Amino acid sequence: MTKKRVELLLPAGNMEKMKTAFLYGADAVYLGGPLLGLRAKAGNFTLEEMAEAIDYAHSIEKKVYITTNIYAQNMDLDAAREYFRSLAVIKPDALIISDLGLMRIAKQEAPEVPIHVSTQANVTNYESCQMLADLGASCVVLARELGLDEIRETVDKCELDIEIFVHGAMCMSYSGRCMMSMFMTNRSANRGECTHPCRWQYHVVEQQRPGEFIPVEEDERGTYIFNSKDLCTIYELDQLIGTGVSSLKVEGRMKSVHYVATVCKAYRQAIDAYYQAPEDFQANDQWIRELKIVSDRDYCTGFYFGPPTGDDHNYGDYDVERTVKFCAKVIGYDEERMSLVLEQRNRFFVGDRLEILRITGFNTTFEVDRMWDDKDQEIDYCPHPRQIIRVPYREPLPEGTLIRVCRED
Ligand code: SF4
Repeated sequence: MTKKRVELLLPAGNMEKMKTAFLYGADAVYLGGPLLGLRAKAGNFTLEEMAEAIDYAHSIEKKVYITTNIYAQNMDLDAAREYFRSLAVIKPDALIISDLGLMRIAKQEAPEVPIHVSTQANVTNYESCQMLADLGASCVVLARELGLDEIRETVDKCELDIEIFVHGAMCMSYSGRCMMSMFMTNRSANRGECTHPCRWQYHVVEQQRPGEFIPVEEDERGTYIFNSKDLCTIYELDQLIGTGVSSLKVEGRMKSVHYVATVCKAYRQAIDAYYQAPEDFQANDQWIRELKIVSDRDYCTGFYFGPPTGDDHNYGDYDVERTVKFCAKVIGYDEERMSLVLEQRNRFFVGDRLEILRITGFNTTFEVDRMWDDKDQEIDYCPHPRQIIRVPYREPLPEGTLIRVCRED
């Protein structure tokens, strides 16, 4: 069993999300470039941006992994070869790969860059891990359909690092090997173009009654018969870390910067709490509140404690109201006028109570007494997206800190 402190790995859909993930405690991020990634619409990085991202990460002793995990076809291979050559130059900390052909090309063209085998490869046993180690992989992201006992045994019997998912959307198909999007919209999930039809609403039509759409009731919210709950393991994080895995991964390259910060902070605190007192680990209410704030759906624990069955592993009814909304980002501090300089992301007004999503510790709130725009005109609210404004506050906050507006009082 590995003794290394477990890594917290966050998604980074763009540069801002990457910096936010690092600010809120990620050890590493994964991001996609112009080719071969599985999120065609995730705001992928250009090669130059990836180089910049890697340099930035390394300057603060963090890591960047590049997703190259499509299942390639012959027509993709020449471009892949050239792409891997370019990636070798910018030196990411790993390439995340599913396809054996791409792995072979990566070994030829970027031999210095470690290979992490993607969860898309559906690795479900230690012999497969060993085979992949023989082929040159240094880490395997296991399929999400394994139980904790299987994960523990795999860690114990393998020489390479093992990574598992701790949080985020689940596919109803086997670790994302899914043809539903291709079938419904001619856009292939296996080429990064999933349109998420598993989350649409469906009805049943009986053959003899055409045109009669019979609802399939799941709950009062709808009929999402193919729609998995999202994964959340913060209650059981001690058990996951206890398997000896090397890395805990959060899903969601298409999620917002607010999602990245919120989920990252909760898991950072949970991991740190575990290492302070492993025997006494207990999820705290604040982490749960935070994770519910950024979710549209209920949570489950996936397959870690046995196959999901209906309401099993459900954390309760999903009735959370949006009590806070991301509204601004700290971009500086005006010492002379003792004011935070903010970039607006959602409207808020003088008189609103704002919550600071603190990088560490508990969040705090303050009321907006007054507000000025970038021309020092006093204003009552900030209507324009990305508007630069100033609000009084007693002390500077780290640049990049996110601010929320409270909607409960
Ligand atoms: S349609 Fe749903 S299950 Fe299939 S790949 Fe897309 S998100 Fe996953």
